[in-house]
Amino acid sequence: MYRIGNKEVEAVEKVIMSKNFWRYSQNSEAKQFERELEDEISVKHALVMSSGTASLLCGLVALGIGPGDEVIVPGYTFISTALVPMALGAIPVIAEVDETLTIDPEDIKKKITPRTRVIMPVHINGLPCNMKAILEIAKQHGLYVLEDACQAVGGSYQGKRLGTLGDAGAFSFNYYKTISCGEGGALISNNTTTYEKARIYHDAGCAFFSPDQKVKVPYFAGVNYRMSDILSSIMRIQLGRLDGILKDLRQRKNFLIENLCIPMGWKLSPVNDEDGDCSIKLGIMFESNQEVTHWIDKVNTLEPGLKTECPLYSDRHVYINWEAVLEKRSIFNDCKQLPFTDTGLNYSKDMCPKTLDYLARTMYFLINPDMEIAELDRICKNIKDSY
Ligand SMILES: *Cc1c(COP(=O)(O)O)cnc(C)c1O
Repeated sequence: MYRIGNKEVEAVEKVIMSKNFWRYSQNSEAKQFERELEDEISVKHALVMSSGTASLLCGLVALGIGPGDEVIVPGYTFISTALVPMALGAIPVIAEVDETLTIDPEDIKKKITPRTRVIMPVHINGLPCNMKAILEIAKQHGLYVLEDACQAVGGSYQGKRLGTLGDAGAFSFNYYKTISCGEGGALISNNTTTYEKARIYHDAGCAFFSPDQKVKVPYFAGVNYRMSDILSSIMRIQLGRLDGILKDLRQRKNFLIENLCIPMGWKLSPVNDEDGDCSIKLGIMFESNQEVTHWIDKVNTLEPGLKTECPLYSDRHVYINWEAVLEKRSIFNDCKQLPFTDTGLNYSKDMCPKTLDYLARTMYFLINPDMEIAELDRICKNIKDSY
């Protein structure tokens, strides 16, 4: 469902013909994309890199997270949110989601221990988390907040863009996301030290040749997650399409609410900030999983063009399928100095029963921003008329 075409082809051609692929050259595409992203999202620093996972990892590194630290993540998110702490020898602590299918602030409180350092709220499916409650808890307990906004580029919470409310935020531009260049990501932050640390770590420990953007933080050992300038040129065009995509998603979501969900008497899943929701999906909450399955089957049969899903079956987005986490398998397993099991924390498939219950009882409509309203209208009428 991408919106992509000739403009992106021309942008890539321009970079190729320039024979200059260096991300830190004067006026590189990556640098220009960073400035444009900062403007669009209203944030002080954007650091583009090779993926959303790399952005989350650099975010944790920049916040000083390491072996034995605990990081609270929700039980419903793409698996990499939970694996990123493990990649640093830190420990993901899995918290329940509430009916919004975003992390439950009440359960965050229960999961805090003396080792907790970071809360990672995930704006899953572009749905804003309850940031007011989360930021309050973080402040009270002296914790960092790293927002996983990988699926929520352009969304907002109480007027502020997602990713800018906590200490840092991560975006993904992979094949699955609203705006995409195949693979890519960005870390955003209003804190200059956090940005500089992430920049050093993502750039082989040296914040390479960038006289116009000197860093104050001393260099430390890093890796290379630099963004390609060719992909950055695509992202600059993609960013220009974002507002139009969000507008069309929201219009279609509201149309479905008015013309199908309300007439059918369905209960909408609550949303922490309706106006800020990216509207990638529309959640309906039923009394039972049987009802969800029933309606998914009906809609599939009647109107297969209107995509539905039950998030319980979304594979690696649900903690019960995070084998490496449940089995505590990281690169440190064979490294005797850093035993992952130190804190005695144990994982099990029934550790977040509320999460499984809410996922099982939710039906999602997947919103296609390019479906004609007239077609959506016909679909709504057909489904209503069949009952
Ligand atoms: C896509 C995604 C990621 C990872 O992004 P990549 O660019 O694939 O590394 C992390 N968290 C969430 C919630 C995602 O949807």
